[in-house]
Amino acid sequence: MAQGSGALTFGKNRAKIHDESSRMQVTFEDVAGVDEAKLELEEVVDFLRQPAKYQKLGGRIPKGVLLVGPPGTGKTLLAKAVAGEARVSFFSISGSEFVEMFVGVGAARVRDLFEQAKQKAPCIVFIDELDAIGKARSSGRAIGFSNDEREQTLNQLLAEIDGFESSEGVIIMAATNTPEVLDPALLRAGRFDRQVLVDRPDLKDRVAILKVHARKVLMADDVALETVAGRTPGMVGADLANIVNESALLAVRRGGERVEMRDLEEAADRVMLGLEKKSRVMSPEEKERVAVHEAGHALVALSVKHADPLHRVSIIPRSIGALGYTLQLPTQERYLMTQPELEDQIAVLLGGRTAEEIHYGGVVSTGAADDLERASALVRQMVTRFGMSDALGPLTYGRPMAAQFLKSPFDMEERNYSERTAERIDDESRRIVDEIRKRVTEILSKRREPMERISRELIRKETLERAELDKLLAPDEPEKIGDPERVTPEVPVA
Ligand code: ADP
Ligand code: MG
Ligand code: ZN
Repeated sequence: MAQGSGALTFGKNRAKIHDESSRMQVTFEDVAGVDEAKLELEEVVDFLRQPAKYQKLGGRIPKGVLLVGPPGTGKTLLAKAVAGEARVSFFSISGSEFVEMFVGVGAARVRDLFEQAKQKAPCIVFIDELDAIGKARSSGRAIGFSNDEREQTLNQLLAEIDGFESSEGVIIMAATNTPEVLDPALLRAGRFDRQVLVDRPDLKDRVAILKVHARKVLMADDVALETVAGRTPGMVGADLANIVNESALLAVRRGGERVEMRDLEEAADRVMLGLEKKSRVMSPEEKERVAVHEAGHALVALSVKHADPLHRVSIIPRSIGALGYTLQLPTQERYLMTQPELEDQIAVLLGGRTAEEIHYGGVVSTGAADDLERASALVRQMVTRFGMSDALGPLTYGRPMAAQFLKSPFDMEERNYSERTAERIDDESRRIVDEIRKRVTEILSKRREPMERISRELIRKETLERAELDKLLAPDEPEKIGDPERVTPEVPVA
């Protein structure tokens, strides 16, 4: 960070006003999977194209549109697309650039911005990261950005917004991922009174986003973007753009002419799980242990009826702390889970440790700690939150503490039940886990041979795709495959 007189220049150079009008070629075609947001913004586009129509009617056009959504969902892209669609100028400034400025500079910059904008009307003024300027005035001192400065900048912004009529042809757009910290003054009528939600993409949206970016690279015929989308729930547009980019680089690196499915798979892995840590040394014993453990997860996932489809199993560590991984992918976005699904999820989690028990005659390792923690959390939720234990009935136990203090909903809770109930919760959790564990032990004992086969193959190849697993398990007779209790003829089994 600059010091002394250097800081002055530093401060001065910040908060640039970007006039990207001349190269604004982004249109709605470049933004995928946010149809509702686009629909809401159509009106703004229309207004900017023919303001006279609205002026005649005296219709009220929103002055300020606030785009709200997680980072990387395409808010900035949408704002640019509005300008592109309307073929108007686009001025932007980012709230974060105001950090480290001296009193008065921020306010002056805001004044400049609107001055320029009015001269170029119709146009869009885009304020990215509005929260950096627009934090509620009471919310304490931001590091490096004095309250005074922020307040002056914010006041100037409010004054500018109030000081013109949208009929002048200037539309203010802003983006934030933390709308809750914004000063309420910003959201009042006549300011950012229209909010547009830009949410994380669901499966079909992810396919659409991948398609948009795939247009820019040469793709081989084997590429199935649906598959890539299927394995990336939770990812936002920026991540997906990244995957396509990365896949192109990988294709070039291996001397390919086109991006193939393997490039996309690898790119998705990289973005999702971090780079492969091939350099890490694992002893042969350790490698075998991880292979057995992951084979257990995989075989249980392939055997129970309600597990998410298995995509791949690997003993290559991809993230710090993990040894191998078994990748299951939900086929669609999940909003709720049934009791059998939860039980099968726990079964898959217990599969790793149970396989170790079976293979090593009861000698277990530390490798299952994370699995057990997740299984424990799940079973306790079944008992105390979802009413899935007959003994405790359809009640919830424990009252979550006020939400703002929690990192996760199950972080901390107030105990509103007796000591005796606490014991029954423990007993019930234990009983459920024991039952599932028994089932898992049965599955893996019955299928010990295929389990060993998978683990041997894992030691050899390190990573097995679903198709390879299917082939590996094909010799098994159908009736031997699957959960002895649950398997039904119509369930496709590996
Ligand atoms: P945000 O402003 O919400 O953080 P950006 O608009 O900066 O996200 O997105 C970064 C990049 O990610 C975009 O330039 C684009 O390449 C890609 N991207 C994000 N969302 C989408 C989307 N909905 N459709 C297509 N590409 C997207
Ligand atoms: Mg942005
Ligand atoms: Zn495990």
